[in-house]
Amino acid sequence: MEINNTRNSSRESMESSKHDEPIQVRAILSCPNCGYKKKFKNQFLRKDLELLTVAVKVFEFITCNKCGDLIKLDLEFNF
Ligand SMILES: [Zn+2]
Repeated sequence: MEINNTRNSSRESMESSKHDEPIQVRAILSCPNCGYKKKFKNQFLRKDLELLTVAVKVFEFITCNKCGDLIKLDLEFNF
């Protein structure tokens, strides 16, 4: 019992320290039709990843301002 308790508590502290580290996120918008490309960089805390999900949903509807085609979105995460 005692061993189990120790293991659990150390795992918890590891996870909580990870929560404070920001995640680098790079969003690359590109147009498959005309080659238009734009990059965004942002930082999110692990607990704020919900904000990123919302932002991505907005990006999904972006159209190219050159040709009007739907923009392709690639996300790169740097943990
Ligand atoms: Zn385009």
